[in-house]
Amino acid sequence: MAVIPGDGIGPEVTQATLEVLQALENRFSLSFDFKNVEAGDGSKSKFGIALPEKSYQTISSSNACLKGPVGESAKQVIIALRQRLNLYANIRPAVTLPNVPSIHSHVDLVVVRENTEGLYKGIEDKTPEYAFSVRVVTKEASLRIARVAYEMAMKRRRRVTVVHKSNVLSSCELFSECCMNVARHYPKVQTEQMYVDNASYQLVKNPRRFDVIVTTNMFGDILSDEAAGVVGSLGLSPSMNLGDQFGLFEPVHGSAPDLPKGTANPLATMMSARLMLEWLAEKHKDDALKQASEALWRSIIQILRKRVFTPDLGGSSTTAQVTQAVIQEISTQNPS
Ligand code: ATP
Repeated sequence: MAVIPGDGIGPEVTQATLEVLQALENRFSLSFDFKNVEAGDGSKSKFGIALPEKSYQTISSSNACLKGPVGESAKQVIIALRQRLNLYANIRPAVTLPNVPSIHSHVDLVVVRENTEGLYKGIEDKTPEYAFSVRVVTKEASLRIARVAYEMAMKRRRRVTVVHKSNVLSSCELFSECCMNVARHYPKVQTEQMYVDNASYQLVKNPRRFDVIVTTNMFGDILSDEAAGVVGSLGLSPSMNLGDQFGLFEPVHGSAPDLPKGTANPLATMMSARLMLEWLAEKHKDDALKQASEALWRSIIQILRKRVFTPDLGGSSTTAQVTQAVIQEISTQNPS
């Protein structure tokens, strides 16, 4: 398993998560093989390149990758990894959690974001006089992400909201048509279409109306941060970047250079690790991994019930205290 510590709070939150994974290893007789990989601003200043080929090779030959946030060079790392590894589905759940202060209760939604094209395709230029970024939407990628969203909806509350801006952008028209084509194959799923401006308004006013939101790259990037704010904190928002064979798991948040040392919430990265264990368990039909992923989730919920909160949630616990609290909970979980 490859691990990218990243920049800013990245090394702290990934180290905290590795400690938790080690506790799970012991508790559930698992054996993870972590391979630390250099990528990001640190790598750029050391080697002159944010994603060295050696790092890419280590990542692409692993089972999965756990990634911390990367700073200024995020574009050269995560955008490159998503495109080179064809991690076409970015899945970002937003759920209200026990005791966590939030502007709405009982929210449980997931943003399914197209992850390889749109405005982040990289076809762009900048001169002193003008700049442009081309928004690329293809039929193939739109159908593919729509299928992911509908499959997910079938396992949830069977409601998909297709978010776009087709009244202004032709690229969105194609995206919408593709989603509607896929929708026809899922008669049990209720589909609605929504313009992105209304979707961002509805997310704040009435987030419980959403189950699965499917959208293009940049809209998904923005709406998922908004959803994180609606349920409490970016410090509680995990994500998966999935392709057909490989998965990369990372917190939604960035490197947060403004945070004082030792105060970052490590739970978004731990929750991403939990999604990684769940995905690996399903892929390899491995029961112990499934149990470990469930135990990690229960442990996180328990510490939230006990209000072991970092400052972003209104508490005063440090990153290390939250980590120890999760490890303590894991030690009480029974391997069956
Ligand atoms: P990026 O462009 O890489 O997404 P950003 O600068 O837009 O990064 P973040 O680094 O995600 O944004 O930070 C946004 C805000 O959320 C900041 O105020 C930051 O301190 C806070 N934040 C982000 N992650 C965490 C965390 N793990 N714990 C506590 N606060 C966090």
